Amino acid sequence: MHDRKRILVTGGAGFLGSHLCERLVNEGNDVICMDNFRTSAKRNIRHLMDNNYFEFIRHDIIEPIFIECDQIYNLACPASPIWYQQDPIYTTKTSIYGAFNCLGIAKRTGARILQTSTSEVYGDPEMHPQKEEYRGNVNQIGPRACYDEGKRVAETLFFDYHRQHKVDIKVMRIFNTYGPRMDMGDGRVVSNFIVQALNGDDITIYGDGSQTRSFCYVDDLIEGMIRLMNSRDGFTGPVNIGNPGEFTIKELAEKVIEMTDSKSKIIYKELPVDDPTQRKPDISLARKELGWEPKIALEEGLKKTIEYFKGRIKELEEIEQK
Ligand code: UDP
Repeated sequence: MHDRKRILVTGGAGFLGSHLCERLVNEGNDVICMDNFRTSAKRNIRHLMDNNYFEFIRHDIIEPIFIECDQIYNLACPASPIWYQQDPIYTTKTSIYGAFNCLGIAKRTGARILQTSTSEVYGDPEMHPQKEEYRGNVNQIGPRACYDEGKRVAETLFFDYHRQHKVDIKVMRIFNTYGPRMDMGDGRVVSNFIVQALNGDDITIYGDGSQTRSFCYVDDLIEGMIRLMNSRDGFTGPVNIGNPGEFTIKELAEKVIEMTDSKSKIIYKELPVDDPTQRKPDISLARKELGWEPKIALEEGLKKTIEYFKGRIKELEEIEQK
């Protein structure tokens, strides 16, 4: 008999959350998706609404809630730099009160709980590639601190609940991820470049484009997340999940222009404050503990993402014409 679990996903209508909910439902679980739609969208979960094993609750995880479940994936938090900086106090509240409230549910129900932390806990890293032991270089009073420090305190809370109350925790550090259902307007580099290229607009590189990022396709990331949740007892992480392939932002711009056959020109804009100069995960721990590594190369993932954005642009044009 299938071991059907009741699983709570906070931030379940977001980019990553919606892919996770879909996978969990398809694998025969009973999924409770929670979201407040602050930086997510109903369209991301519309296709799941009729499924008997999918349930949606509109709730802000800043407020306590009582739910019975076997597992909790805590994804709720504005995650793109422009969104998390728009209301920084709210961003910190979401990370910290959200962690308290989710950990409270886990403590009461005995549910296993996974925290989606971030490579941002490493700040502008002086260690390259980043290993989990590295303690980071975050500017605690800079504009990114609301997200970075919020996520760092959330990690602290997870480990304190684990030590003090024996809560069964898993902590994952997510590196840059891309794919279908990224929000067009959230200012991320992959979505910005693809939409600019498809519309024939200028491609905006911030700084000189020599900063690096490592881009993981969403399906690979969700596989890593589910493996971590179901990893052996006693393995808590933190564990890096991301694609170690490293590209400069300029290389990404050129690849997107080539793949979309675009006539867009590259223009250079000011580099945002505290923008990390390089980022690349060391994934040896994920390989060893989870038997996980990404399978989808940048080009293959970009192809699927470009198709998705072509569809979104068409949808929006049709709505405008109505
Ligand atoms: N970036 C850029 N042009 C854009 C959007 C972003 O050059 O239109 C750069 C940004 O400055 C950063 C990198 O791309 O160096 C990744 O930015 P993103 O916001 O996607 O994520 P981050 O890794 O900074 O959280």
